Amino acid sequence: MTAGAADLPGPLFASTAHAQVGDASLDFAVIGSSSAGNTAFLRVQTPRATRQILIDGGISPRATKGFLSALGYELAETSDLLFTHFDHDHAKAGWARAAMRDGIMLRCSHSHLRLARERGYPDVCVETFDARGDGFTLGEMRVIPRENPHDDGGTVAFRIETPAGSLGFATDLGRASGALIESLRGVDILAIESNYDRAMQLSSNRPEFLKDRIMGGKGHLSNEECIDAVRAIAWPREPEHVVLLHLSRDCNCPDLVRNLWKRALPSLEPRLTIARPYEPVGPLRIARNAARNTAMAVEA
Ligand SMILES: [Zn+2]
Repeated sequence: MTAGAADLPGPLFASTAHAQVGDASLDFAVIGSSSAGNTAFLRVQTPRATRQILIDGGISPRATKGFLSALGYELAETSDLLFTHFDHDHAKAGWARAAMRDGIMLRCSHSHLRLARERGYPDVCVETFDARGDGFTLGEMRVIPRENPHDDGGTVAFRIETPAGSLGFATDLGRASGALIESLRGVDILAIESNYDRAMQLSSNRPEFLKDRIMGGKGHLSNEECIDAVRAIAWPREPEHVVLLHLSRDCNCPDLVRNLWKRALPSLEPRLTIARPYEPVGPLRIARNAARNTAMAVEA
């Protein structure tokens, strides 16, 4: 059984401004997110260890390396690349060579192994996990996968628990099931797809089969479906940051999304970051002291 919110450590984190020696910190950035390419970045630092991973390889290793170094990080420090699924906007073939060169382990669901091989990823660089299982550990991170409907192969969402706090990451969702909502409830940073505006989708000149594929429960989440999912995930505890992923360039608009949020979720709108297609957003940082009660007392 996947761990529910009740099984997970309670939230307690200081703002970045209060971070001090001995703190665990979590940095999260979206390198790019759209149908042109999706890659996100997560780095966890504790007094004991540092672990840096990517989620999805839809942006080339070379571009990812450049974006990361502009943010002050090194691609070569990446240990793992987790895949939500293997559509071309999430899995570029170039990651086969980068994985060999930099020793990056490519991690995907058992059910996606065939797709990883088709992408040219060598078996020696690929490790699979059970997307219906209890999860796995990467250094200071505990990764809990959750399978979702998307086209034929499905996608995997992740809840990643760390000593600094937690990240929920869900993109390319046919719909947000109750199980997905439960698995992401209470996270500190929530990154979730807000793919299209329904009216823009319906009035677009896209072919009907494509509209049906996107809107039919095995494609993508609309802005309204995303808001409904976030409202559910954010109860009873709201995330510190919400990042909206994979906005359609043809059938969505960041200003429209922000206005929707101002009306529908006004308490969360100021914490909203909207990912962009070709440039990174972030890093967002959360931190908490390893000896947390002591630290909080000192700060008080
Ligand atoms: Zn996609």
